[in-house]
Amino acid sequence: MFCTSVIEISKSALQQNFSFIREMLGTETVFSSVVKGNAYGHGIEEFVPLALECGQRHFCVFSSEEARRVREITGDEATTVIMGMISPDELEWAVQNNVEFYVFDMARLEGAVRASGKTGQKAVIHIEMETGMNRTGFSEKDLPQVIEFLKKHNEKLTFRGLCTHYAGAESIANYFRVTHQIKTFRKLKNRFRKKQLEPEICHTACSAAAIRFPSTRMDLARIGIMQYGYWPNTETYISHLTRGMKDNPLKRIITWKSRIMSIKEVKTGEFIGYGTAYLASKNMRIAIVPVGYSHGFSRSLSNQGRVLCHGERTSVLGSVSMNSFTMDITDIPAARVGDEVVIIGNQGDLSLSVASFSEMSNQLNYELLTRLPENIPRKIIE
Ligand SMILES: *Cc1c(COP(=O)(O)O)cnc(C)c1O
Repeated sequence: MFCTSVIEISKSALQQNFSFIREMLGTETVFSSVVKGNAYGHGIEEFVPLALECGQRHFCVFSSEEARRVREITGDEATTVIMGMISPDELEWAVQNNVEFYVFDMARLEGAVRASGKTGQKAVIHIEMETGMNRTGFSEKDLPQVIEFLKKHNEKLTFRGLCTHYAGAESIANYFRVTHQIKTFRKLKNRFRKKQLEPEICHTACSAAAIRFPSTRMDLARIGIMQYGYWPNTETYISHLTRGMKDNPLKRIITWKSRIMSIKEVKTGEFIGYGTAYLASKNMRIAIVPVGYSHGFSRSLSNQGRVLCHGERTSVLGSVSMNSFTMDITDIPAARVGDEVVIIGNQGDLSLSVASFSEMSNQLNYELLTRLPENIPRKIIE
């Protein structure tokens, strides 16, 4: 198959990120590797075997479909937790295969008991609490019913975890909301305890919470974006730096590369690409790269993105097309058709610190990564 770009995944970079995360979490907190969204676009089938090789034994996914893909790779070697969607007819499969799952409403709680009855195995559940994000989770008023149900069916249910998720721990703007969530979680946990019901573990932290609010780490932390080598946002990175760290301990584990497809000269005063998005204010030399928004190179990178060519950082010009984008090579005279273009990652000594896939705007890393199509070939490198 011919592909216009390739993605390389670096084992040594992953090991470095894992060491940083493990060191930060210490020995009391289990590191769960979040691999939802096709392992943030890296590819479950590529990332999970590599993570296993690097000693990872706990994974969180969003759906039962992803859980099946992870289990296919790990077998019983690792724990898998589904944090979101399970179609009702998949609950039995989950219970049968020791796949743990979040429970955030009575319907699923009842489903878990039924699935346990059918399979003869205990359902291993994580009770998710609503603490202020207003996404999924039981609210405080549901507690008496949940507690009674858990006690009544305790031979069919293993109360593995009590958990919640924060509504934007990466941003100081959410400080009061998040600290309120932390307090609420503590209070709810005590309500279980008062009824002599203890979860085996408590877990609440994502990457940003683990960095910014160490008390959220508890027994297990669900780390996504950082293991792939990205900070949740610039604020989180700065908050790490202000603790006296000098270097960036995180390494992007993927390099996404393509090649120059075509080159041309453009005169002062001409527009480049569709419409009037980019006006050449001097004579320019431009290169067309066969990667566009259909390949996951977002249109929001029009006139914004940065890429590397010949070890130089250069800009995306004009609007991104479906199958290509245009970049400036006016100051890279050596550039020729067929030369390598790095869209994410390093080239020579240069890394895209303000990348196309960048810190340009919060959340962009997550969104752009997970849009990387599954059909771009992935190759593991040392
Ligand atoms: C995505 C997600 C995480 C991981 O978030 P990162 O910011 O990528 O570390 C943790 N918990 C839940 C419930 C999530 O949905």
